[in-house]
Amino acid sequence: MEIARTKIALNEFLSDKQHIGFVPTMGALHEGHLSLIQESVKRKLFTVASIFVNPTQFNNAADFEKYPIDTEADLDKLKRAGCELVFLPSKEELYPNGKTHSKYLHDFGKLETTIEGAYRPGHFTGVGQVVHMFFDCVKPSTAFFGQKDFQQLQVIRLLNDKIGSGIEIVGMPTVRENDGLAMSSRNRRLNPEQRQASTLLYKALTEAKEMASLETAMHIKNHVKDLFQKNDLTELEYFEIINPNDFEPIEGNLTHPSQAVIAAYVGEIRLIDNLELV
Ligand code: AMP
Repeated sequence: MEIARTKIALNEFLSDKQHIGFVPTMGALHEGHLSLIQESVKRKLFTVASIFVNPTQFNNAADFEKYPIDTEADLDKLKRAGCELVFLPSKEELYPNGKTHSKYLHDFGKLETTIEGAYRPGHFTGVGQVVHMFFDCVKPSTAFFGQKDFQQLQVIRLLNDKIGSGIEIVGMPTVRENDGLAMSSRNRRLNPEQRQASTLLYKALTEAKEMASLETAMHIKNHVKDLFQKNDLTELEYFEIINPNDFEPIEGNLTHPSQAVIAAYVGEIRLIDNLELV
């Protein structure tokens, strides 16, 4: 497995490669990330991963400062999963003089201002910016993203349409711990008590799914709010039921398709998850 720390080195490694599969990550890798690598390898693509904790997508300075970094272990995991090249750029490499070219700044409309976008101002602009830059440098034929970051996946699809890259975007299912908690780099920061409490997100989603055929969205939302009010270690930021095609909230009876999306704090750690209800 090769490692490129600059765009020049990346270009050299990629110069004779076709059919590139790309997996962008922020590191602190887990089975969720590796499932994306494995899918690319399975498709016989030349598999490239990036590890970069992108400062422009953090709307919370403490979250950025405390983001877990474990590069040596990450490289080992990537190698074992069959990744062939890792792009490990510095901040200066991607944002020379702290700046970025305006061509990488996109308007994602409603996706930026609703649900996750509403709670994380500027987040999706930052995500779109860095992913567009990566697409330009790596020039993949296929790029893999997790459905765990449900709204992000829609933003990437919109970005891809806007820039007309022709890249195939593949959304992969959420990989979970045995108790249902969606794998996330941020889970490493949970203490044992918080780790236990964090199962409430998936419990809320699965109970919502059980209720979906009988109850209105409003009723389900109230039930989830109650679940969180009874738990001292967690704080619900939002639980919404939306039409995944237009992100419009659903209030009455659930129609196909309906997706539940949730964000909650466990201590100071913010976790997100989602589940298809109908
Ligand atoms: P991140 O390092 O958090 O930026 O994530 C890198 C990629 O891995 C994104 O496309 C995520 O959606 C995906 N990912 C993160 N967690 C999971 C998971 N539990 N299952 C599947 N994909 C995931």
